[in-house]
Amino acid sequence: MDQAIKTTYIDLNSYRILNYSEIDLDTVKISEIGIQRSAKDILIYLIPQLKKKGILHSSNPTIHLRVSGDGRNTGSKIKHVMITFMILNDINNHHHADHHYTTVLYPGAEKYDILSFILKPFLDDLQFLKNNGLDIMGTHWNFKLYFSANWKFLAINLGINCANSRYFCLWCECAKEQHSDLNQDWHISKNMKKIAKDYKSFYGHTNPPIFDMIAIENIIFDILHAFLHITDQL
Ligand SMILES: [Zn+2]
Repeated sequence: MDQAIKTTYIDLNSYRILNYSEIDLDTVKISEIGIQRSAKDILIYLIPQLKKKGILHSSNPTIHLRVSGDGRNTGSKIKHVMITFMILNDINNHHHADHHYTTVLYPGAEKYDILSFILKPFLDDLQFLKNNGLDIMGTHWNFKLYFSANWKFLAINLGINCANSRYFCLWCECAKEQHSDLNQDWHISKNMKKIAKDYKSFYGHTNPPIFDMIAIENIIFDILHAFLHITDQL
């Protein structure tokens, strides 16, 4: 798999693409290099295998692709951010780490500027897959995209100020003092195309959304993280 899929190395100081031969393993600081892998290459490698296993079928060529991401502490000072995707059609392997494919990995924090830069090739791939699909083994596969992460990561990627700001909600424009009001008609009122077109007209949005090709209805909050936070607090 490593040979079939191109890996790109990025110098995080200069935002420059490095050739593997340029990287001097004796002097390089691993904390300054990020990695990108082509999602399209991974899918071209993967789809024939999933078809052979009977997980994907030419008669139903819709692939449900879920993007996910999070920051994690790998030591007391080192933090990594990892963006992965998985094929939701592969129901038996949803929770299997081997079936979550990394497209971007970099040392550092979850910040809008670095994410919007380092994710660019992945975002282009997602846009391509959504618009054109992929032709593999005589079948035209089309893609439905989903995005799931914890609230902080979703907020950064949607371009929202921060998770504890007054207008915190990913799906509607409620203010934080409203969030115990059960008489409100709570429904998804935002629309990704409108946010992408004019994010400034939405309360709390300070940047354009990064994953603007994924519909707001398909942005799903990760319940596991919420439960972990709640039990921590209790
Ligand atoms: Zn809301």
